[in-house]
Amino acid sequence: MFRTADCGSLRETDIDSNQTLVGWVDRRRDHGGIIFIDLRDRSGLVQVVLNPELSAQAYQVAEELRSEWVVQIKGTVSRRPEGSENPGMDTGMVEVIADEATVLNQSLTPPFYIAEDAGADESLRLRYRYLDLRRPPMLRNLTLRHRVVKFIRDFLDAQGFLEIETPILIKSTPEGARDFLVPSRMQPGSFYALPQSPQQLKQLLMVSGVEKYFQIARCFRDEDLRADRQLEFTQLDLEMSFVDEEDVLSLTEELYSGLIESVTPDKRLTKPFHRLTYDEAMSDYGTDKPDLRFGLKMTEVSDLANETEFRVFLSTVERGGIVKGFVVPQQAINTSSVMKELEEIAKEAGAGGLSHIRFRGVSAIQDMNDEEILYSAGLRMPSEWSQRLADQMGAHPGDLVLLMAGQEKQVNAWLSIMRNHMAQRLELADPDALAFAFITEFPLFEWNEDANRWDSSHHPFTSPADGQEGMLDGNDLGSIRSKAYDMVCNGSELASGSIRIHRRELQEKVFSILGYDAGETASRFGQILEAFEYGAPPHGGIAPGIDRLVAILTGNTSIREVIAFPKTQSGVDPLFDSPAPVSQAQLDELSLRISD
Ligand code: ASP
Repeated sequence: MFRTADCGSLRETDIDSNQTLVGWVDRRRDHGGIIFIDLRDRSGLVQVVLNPELSAQAYQVAEELRSEWVVQIKGTVSRRPEGSENPGMDTGMVEVIADEATVLNQSLTPPFYIAEDAGADESLRLRYRYLDLRRPPMLRNLTLRHRVVKFIRDFLDAQGFLEIETPILIKSTPEGARDFLVPSRMQPGSFYALPQSPQQLKQLLMVSGVEKYFQIARCFRDEDLRADRQLEFTQLDLEMSFVDEEDVLSLTEELYSGLIESVTPDKRLTKPFHRLTYDEAMSDYGTDKPDLRFGLKMTEVSDLANETEFRVFLSTVERGGIVKGFVVPQQAINTSSVMKELEEIAKEAGAGGLSHIRFRGVSAIQDMNDEEILYSAGLRMPSEWSQRLADQMGAHPGDLVLLMAGQEKQVNAWLSIMRNHMAQRLELADPDALAFAFITEFPLFEWNEDANRWDSSHHPFTSPADGQEGMLDGNDLGSIRSKAYDMVCNGSELASGSIRIHRRELQEKVFSILGYDAGETASRFGQILEAFEYGAPPHGGIAPGIDRLVAILTGNTSIREVIAFPKTQSGVDPLFDSPAPVSQAQLDELSLRISD
């Protein structure tokens, strides 16, 4: 047996027991005549004492030891001498007095410390990922990820779901990104596409009568890596037959609240999860992924803005734009220089500017005098107007009102950035809170300005809302609502899903609105359209991302911290040095030629 106990498990109850331990030398301290090492395995650290008077052999070995050498220690667990206990360490009341030490392997000096904080930049950590993963925080992340996935599997198993693997070599399954292609050797000139998600496969499984399917699925999307995305990522892919939105959402809520209560019980989870329609989310928070750990709700005040003589407001409203903003409680005290700073943030976000009103007085707003209400440049109104604005927006004496003007879509985007900025600045978001929300009733289509066509807001398999199918023949496609939903948490989108179309004619109509001609529809989607003709049950599902969830639960901002072997922002794996050129022989086999 290599070992009888894990290093990090030893406690006072083990005192006087003989143990064999293995692990890596975390630190070695030579106290003139006695050598101490902290021995580390996955479970943690324990102090080992190598005293030449007790074991000359062990001491001799210890003299040679260096950081990260792999050793086996046989010895006796003993109480640490009084005064040398370390209550900060799980094993801090004990130490192991070595009788025998064996070097199992040596190590080069690692390029960074194997410690809580690597103190190295990410490219070096990724280059030596196997050492980076040896660090306790990374092992903790991998452990928590394992717990999350295990909870999901156990929960869904108990609910009667079947875990079914679907192919990686498949055909284009659109989720709005570029496909990764794999050339076929046996059919030169033909390609597989890696799944952007198993969407069509899980729908086909519903036609098969599986009824409840899930998979911890790898998805591949060849996108430019905007902040914190990966070319391949993991999602819990789930599909159910004979369900409507509410069935999927309540199952998801039960799964996620159970998961968090079991895996990270110290988090403050808001229950029940918030529910907002897409329209409510956009109007109250300017985004479909609001951080609901704090308020700062928005209000549109275009009518009131139109009563002013402020040119920016007037011309915006005249051009069909809006004026909208939010109240920051008790922040009227801020100085003009702080207000300038906020204007700069707004400009960085792309806005033309940021207007504000500071209600400095303590009396009712209509009684405040000119010195007590401070307006940003160009905006000045009687206090009676300000009172009406305050009533509409929910502002009180002492509050700061921030306002922005522009086209609705842009104003929402800018204000949402300002809202998050203010929350960060005022530390309004509790880092231990998890505010989940379901956003429902998304539009079915969105207009793609650049391509001059309609795109699916979610994906083409999403069902229109009840009673709105007829609108597909009309010319107000932008108003059609869908049975798509998202789950968001603390401002991040964690899941998307929908109730699907399960009838051929309806699915074909949606493809034609999206601009696919008959030939393209047949070649790309023939299989699912055909399957719909063989008794496809009503069905729907959802697909929560695993990487982002684990990042939130472990308090990491980057998903790379919770993926064992991630790629960099530029899609490179510095450890394997991939992607990499291949040999001419391999290209020939695949009938491929690289053009310059
Ligand atoms: N396939 C979808 C996605 O990956 C999720 C779903 O609709 O179930 O976003």
